[in-house]
Amino acid sequence: MLKKLFMLLILSGAVLTAQSQIKRPKLVVGLVVDQMRWDYLYYYYNEFGEGGLKRLVNEGFSCENTMINYVPTVTAIGHSSIYTGSVPALTGITGNNFFIDGRPTYCCEDSTVRSVGSRSKEGQMSPRNLLASTIGDELKIATDYKAKVIGVALKDRAAILPVGHTADAAYWWDTSAGHYVSSTFYMNQLPRWVQDFNKVNRQKPGTDVKTSTQGITLTFKMAETALEKEQMGQDDITDLLAVSISSTDAIGHTYGTRGKENYDAYMQLDKDLAHFLSLLDSKIGKDNYLLFLSADHGAAHNANLLKHHRISAGGYSISSQSPKLNEYLAQQYGVKNLIVGTNSNRIFLNHAKAAQAGIALADIKRTAIEWLKQDERVMYAVDFSNAEYESMPQVIKERIINGYNARRSGDIYVVTLPEYVEDSVTPQYKGTNHSMWNPYDSHIPLVFMGWGIGHGSTVAPTRIVDIAPTVCAMLHIQMPDACVGDAIRQVVE
Ligand SMILES: [Zn+2]
Repeated sequence: MLKKLFMLLILSGAVLTAQSQIKRPKLVVGLVVDQMRWDYLYYYYNEFGEGGLKRLVNEGFSCENTMINYVPTVTAIGHSSIYTGSVPALTGITGNNFFIDGRPTYCCEDSTVRSVGSRSKEGQMSPRNLLASTIGDELKIATDYKAKVIGVALKDRAAILPVGHTADAAYWWDTSAGHYVSSTFYMNQLPRWVQDFNKVNRQKPGTDVKTSTQGITLTFKMAETALEKEQMGQDDITDLLAVSISSTDAIGHTYGTRGKENYDAYMQLDKDLAHFLSLLDSKIGKDNYLLFLSADHGAAHNANLLKHHRISAGGYSISSQSPKLNEYLAQQYGVKNLIVGTNSNRIFLNHAKAAQAGIALADIKRTAIEWLKQDERVMYAVDFSNAEYESMPQVIKERIINGYNARRSGDIYVVTLPEYVEDSVTPQYKGTNHSMWNPYDSHIPLVFMGWGIGHGSTVAPTRIVDIAPTVCAMLHIQMPDACVGDAIRQVVE
């Protein structure tokens, strides 16, 4: 009897000990700033107020050398890779737009769902093209689906891909309606609080809020309202709020990485972030939330500005090369339109047409590569399925292989000279672009702050795919199912 009692005491003790050992934050907040170059943290540092980006750097832990380890460096892939800890080869998100077995596809398009909150097609979106689980999915699984997971952004892909398949909701901006919408993938009607938010914040249909600082504020306001109305972080089960700021990208594309417009965007971001952080402090408690800030990609500086300062720069547009190459291939093989499309320096060949005409794909690729290499702006034109055997620096090769998905990423990948943006650069060109392997596109900020995070920084190499396993290690939950990254020891330990 005594022995039994003793055993019971030990057992109940063990259970109590185990419970007191698994500690988790009440809320995880992922904040992605679209097109934020790593060096903006320091380029604008002196201009920032105390409570926003400067606070993150001064209180948080910064991984100063975080690189994107795949190509192309674009929005849909950046958001899916941050939250899956994986690369396009495995997630199937190989671009904003790509071809699945020759069929043109937008990353989040889903004709089986309908818009919720508007009658337009802007809500016909879901994460079904994403082949991997996210941090949010794993958090759901670990909590028997009790965790609340919500995504907010102006861009649909930046709201949908981060939270994944099991999310409670994703909300994005329908420009044609002038307010936030969702899709029947998540719900059949907008919650009352979203309807109320839309009533107060509605814009004239068609208004372009993405290319204005107002878009930044509209996103933070929506995130703050979701936080309060959905009572996120208010119980013992960890919730996830994924927020992405899209306006910084639209402003960067239009006006470039320097100048008043970019400055205004980052000052607005800083101000709105400070408000958001102070709300998290008061609603959740300063040490009860874990927040990370990162970016889906960077951006090149304006090519004309660089040229003006004698730095080699220019443009190369794969879409304008494509008709000429298609014509050349037609002459060689007697078959028209062997190229089905191009995107982010990739050429997608029409496999069915080649097979029908009895031409070996390898032969077409060889001919096309020879033609592409005649252009002196092209450093490498690579057979995507065979990059391993190309004589090129290992770091570029690895990023090409990580970006290669046999069904979705095309057949040839073109590496241009540094600072040659994927665009037609005219003397009037004021903006910028991104998608390359180069540091200006692939070096992103990564700062953790809050629950379990000490102040500090590391210059040890880290990668975009390390973010998800780091967050999962801190939460003691399984990493996403296609994760190829590693938890960052300096952050977790
Ligand atoms: Zn982006």
